Amino acid sequence: MAWNKPLPHPTDISAPYWQGLQAHEVRLQQCEQGHWLFFPRTHCPTCGSRQLAWRQVSGAGQLYTYTVARVPTLPEFTDEMPQLLAVVELDEGVHINTTLVGVEPGEIRVGQRLRPVFDERPGSATLLRYTLVESNHPGVIHADAEPEAAAACAPARQLPQVDCKDLPAMRALVSETYSDWSNAITVTQELIDQFAALSGDDYWIHTDPERARRESPFGTTIAHGALVQVLMSRLKLPMAFEVTGYHNIVNYGSDRLRFPTPVPSGCRIHARYRIKSVEQAKSGTQVTMEINIHVVGQDRPSVINDLVMLYM
Ligand SMILES: [Zn+2]
Repeated sequence: MAWNKPLPHPTDISAPYWQGLQAHEVRLQQCEQGHWLFFPRTHCPTCGSRQLAWRQVSGAGQLYTYTVARVPTLPEFTDEMPQLLAVVELDEGVHINTTLVGVEPGEIRVGQRLRPVFDERPGSATLLRYTLVESNHPGVIHADAEPEAAAACAPARQLPQVDCKDLPAMRALVSETYSDWSNAITVTQELIDQFAALSGDDYWIHTDPERARRESPFGTTIAHGALVQVLMSRLKLPMAFEVTGYHNIVNYGSDRLRFPTPVPSGCRIHARYRIKSVEQAKSGTQVTMEINIHVVGQDRPSVINDLVMLYM
């Protein structure tokens, strides 16, 4: 899985802290007078001593303050909404900025006891998150955890078959409720660049990350709406039925195509669908399927496509 989010750049001074996290330990500096300090420094801010040693601590602490961020703090975090930004007061007295995991926003209270969660990121970085002491969230998030992998391995189940000429049965598929989500894929800058080259639409808002950082309201490049629309072919919708009894399916195009929200470069997308209508046409059975593509975690879709198919 691509990881486009900012990662720490350890310095000579902070490297022991990051090495500690890689070993699933929280390490803090302590001066010879016994003062604890964080963030990593060359001297003690309390007494000025330069005689500092790194010590392993439990990492346990309590919630000092928090914010539930419902607007991404960076475009790269769009798929993590809401972000639970927190300041944890460790039992040694130092404060650490972090994010909470495995907790619902409504459950959070200042003063709650917290324990560390070591979040292994691709490459060399491990990040320090926190969760409630009583939470059943694992203490380590492994870099290779790939939620889709399990679904991909599930045995194929036999889908109910519906004959396209059986109009009442076809109409019974019409629903107000959306399906489960498809698999998710990452819309990388490389994909966006390839689409820009193919389509000729190389407007900077798609292709120039530097300029987009400075001038775009999104703070980063965004995918072409048409690109996100065609990426549907890479998303496997969890179909609840199988249509049979046709010689040919004709893609009739779209009754409605909208791009309500942008997809920033590096975001993950997934899709869901519902059958919107079934009509008897002269040459066959016409099915309108509403397919919505969302950035993972976003309520508003990025693509709404009322796809019309004719089963002949
Ligand atoms: Zn000191």
